[in-house]
Amino acid sequence: MRTRFAPSPTGFQHIGGFRTAFFAWALAKHFGGEFILRIEDTDQERKVEGAVSFILDELAWFGIEIDEGPGKEELEKLGERSAHLPKGGRHGPYIQSLRLPKYKAAAQKLIETGFAYRCDCTPEMLEKERAEQMARREVPGYSGYCRTREVPEDKPHVVRFKMPHKPKLSMQDAVKGLVSWDNPPLRDPVLLKSDGFPTYHLAVVVDDHEMEITHVMRGDEWLPSTPIHLLLYQAFGWEAPVFAHLPVILGEDGKKLSKRHGAPTSRELREKGFLPEAIFNFVMLIGWSPGGEQEVFTKDEIVRLFSLDRVNNASGVFLQSKLEWMNGKYIRDLTSEEFYKRVREFSPEIDSIKSKFLELSPHLQERAKTLLEIPSMIEFLTDKKISREWDKVIKKDVTKESAASLLNELKVLISELSGFEIEILDKSVREFAEKKGLKVGAVFPLLRIATLYTSATPPLFESLHVLGKDQVLRRIDEAVRELLL
Ligand code: GLU
Repeated sequence: MRTRFAPSPTGFQHIGGFRTAFFAWALAKHFGGEFILRIEDTDQERKVEGAVSFILDELAWFGIEIDEGPGKEELEKLGERSAHLPKGGRHGPYIQSLRLPKYKAAAQKLIETGFAYRCDCTPEMLEKERAEQMARREVPGYSGYCRTREVPEDKPHVVRFKMPHKPKLSMQDAVKGLVSWDNPPLRDPVLLKSDGFPTYHLAVVVDDHEMEITHVMRGDEWLPSTPIHLLLYQAFGWEAPVFAHLPVILGEDGKKLSKRHGAPTSRELREKGFLPEAIFNFVMLIGWSPGGEQEVFTKDEIVRLFSLDRVNNASGVFLQSKLEWMNGKYIRDLTSEEFYKRVREFSPEIDSIKSKFLELSPHLQERAKTLLEIPSMIEFLTDKKISREWDKVIKKDVTKESAASLLNELKVLISELSGFEIEILDKSVREFAEKKGLKVGAVFPLLRIATLYTSATPPLFESLHVLGKDQVLRRIDEAVRELLL
């Protein structure tokens, strides 16, 4: 089993783009096979700098190991740099722009066997032909003018595939089932361009064959191209791989997920504090399910359970709320130490409050959907000057003066406590409120803003406990001064 991920570096893939990679990887690993990364950069005009490194870095972040793929030298030739270098491999290069002689030789072979021909029609001629076809309401396409001409090799030319007359084709797609084409509307497509670059059709067939790919997994927008590929396999006399065309991913509005549509890239999700293992799990379940109710799976479980016959032929939906739920679940399942390590990536300054952070971490993990929410939740543990959200508590019926006097009473209460355990704090502040005939809702928020500055913090008494008595008393004093200023 050899599968591949063959992205074109024309931009920074949104997260749905990686689903193909994850599925192909899971399939290969399920069967103990190899997963290959190939860069399809035949469209040099649409190439985006940094896109190859992006793909390598993101796959590494997801923990997707590549068995074969562009090596160091290949990347250097492309001017790309990545901290995560795949090891190259026996079928290299794995970047199509570095494989041009192979495509040229393949095109030459097809010319010699009569399956392809040189064409020197100028863009003007093709444009004219097209306009005439449109006027006749025909499907536009090359007329085949050069099929019977002898175009010398040294004249600028393209190489075209000689499409068989009215072909009938079918294949057993591993996801879509039997797909048939009766005379697909394809007219002698270009295989090799005049600049020596192959088109996608030639390159993909040559490479999948040479790289011994057994299963081609790709988005079903490539299904209409598949007849050309099947015919090319026939022309070369090669066995075609198994195709598995994956249905599109829809956004919540029912439209195809796309970057333009606001679908995030994995890097954007990373910056927002999503965990790679949560994204991986979430993306794997778009269009695949092993059956049953379980939704949270380790990578190993996924590899063990993955099978093509459970890939859904209907389009899957990218549900942001489900991703958040999944992320929250993964955050809760981290050990405190691991959680600390992950948050540290967002906020290295937590080093100075590590033990307090660890003490509070179960409460933080309970609350957070993303890691990015954490730094602001624990700012109260640092020495940072943070302005208190007074507007949350000073309202029409609560004046600054009345708030200050209540805080002064709380200060006395707290300073006289014999211990500073969570239960003691909780009980005495509740009793205090009761004695004064106040609702806890009138006391807790005030105490929270005075000592923890904001309303978005872990639970009040747990936080006060971690902060420590001296600090709590000092902050109440400071809050009172602020109110009476
Ligand atoms: N290079 C194509 C892309 O970027 C993939 C085509 C294929 O997998 O055959 O989507």
